[in-house]
Parts: sequence; C-alpha cells; structure tokens
Amino acid sequence: MTTQQKAIIGGCIIAAFIFFQSKPKETLTASDIEPIMIRTELAFKQAESKILTIVPDDDVEPLGPNPDVNKCICKGTGRYERPDLPGSGKMVDCPYHSSSQVKTISNIRTVEEARDALANGYAISLCSGYGFSSRRDSNGIAKRSGGWNHAMAWIACDDTHERLKETLFLIQNSWGKWNSGPRVLGQPEGSFWIREKDARGMLSGGGGWVFSDVDGFPARKIDWTINEVF
Ligand SMILES: [Zn+2]
Repeated sequence: MTTQQKAIIGGCIIAAFIFFQSKPKETLTASDIEPIMIRTELAFKQAESKILTIVPDDDVEPLGPNPDVNKCICKGTGRYERPDLPGSGKMVDCPYHSSSQVKTISNIRTVEEARDALANGYAISLCSGYGFSSRRDSNGIAKRSGGWNHAMAWIACDDTHERLKETLFLIQNSWGKWNSGPRVLGQPEGSFWIREKDARGMLSGGGGWVFSDVDGFPARKIDWTINEVF
C-alpha cells in the first residue's frame, strides 16, 4: 500500500468518525461507542474496496479487543501482545475479557472519601493545579509549591495522627527519582506525603477519581497494610 493510499484511507476514517460524532455528548458509554466502531469499520472496508479495488478479507486475524470473545484479539485469554510491539512479548489486559477490569470509576471530593477508598484498597488518580516542593521534610512531607496542571496517583493514607495531628496522604509522582529528602513508612522513590489542608484543596477541585473492580468502593479485607492495621 502506498503512502497516498494510506493517507486516503486515513482521511476516510477520520471523516467517518467526525460524521458519526454529530451529536456531541459529555460522556460516551460502551454501548454508544460500539455502533461508532462498527460503522467506522464498515466505512474502512468500503473505502478499502473502492480505493484499493480489493475485496476486504473478513478472515484476517482480529486487530483489537472485541466484546465478542470469538472476534477478540485475546481469544478469550484476557491478555494479548501489544499490537504496536509485535514479537515483543509485552502483554496487556483485554478491556473485555481480563479478570482485572475496572468496573466503577467514582468521583471523590473529600478527605474522608479519599481515606476510605485507600483504606479499602482502591487506587486514586487526582488531577489538580497544585505543585509541590522537590524536597521532603523530616516527616517525608512536601510543602505546596508552584502550580502543576498534572495528574498523580494517591497511593496511601496515614490516619494515625502520629506525625502531625491530621490525616496525611502519600502521592506517587510519575517523574522517576525527581525529589529528595527523608522517606518514611517505606514510601517509594518519587513519592511525597501531603498535609490534610492541601489534600482537601486538591480534592475540592473535583479531579479525584477512585478506580475499582467492583461496584463502588465497598470495604474489603486487604493483606498489605503497614502493621496489618485493618
Ligand atoms: Zn478479549
């Protein structure tokens, strides 16, 4: 296939996608997206047969995840090799057939919700404009400093009120070993604790989301807390 042919097919796909997006919505559910995918695939096949004058082959290997297990790239195993890295052996979870699917994404806005979610073993992603110092203090805490339009993972909560008389949260940044200073309670490199007032401010912005593999984030027994506190 020449570059020009690829460009024409690419243009058709983009045009089809824009056309089928004619009713903009704030969020799309899986049932909204599925007909778009089917129609886009149909448009691709029509473009392929018109421009390349070849008959689309329906028997080719599946190209991606599909709710129909017989058509899914994972072939029902729940895992498949990254299509962009063929032969690499780098496996990813299938969004339809993996046993570790995200089922619920819950918006949280308070320190109490964040504490409960973490205590029950669920991860938090939080987007905010808060920036922090690259130097941790003797408690492993970083002071608020500057502004980052950034998303970070909240990975733990210290509700003992032993270091300070308040609830502290542990944030894991994605920048590798970017900060320094004392680390406490086995916190990983690249992480820092934040004070409750900063947590409250960040959460109030509405950018906090809890991911869970069940409906909501109910209490559950977890076996990896410090000192088995739960
Ligand atoms: Zn699958």
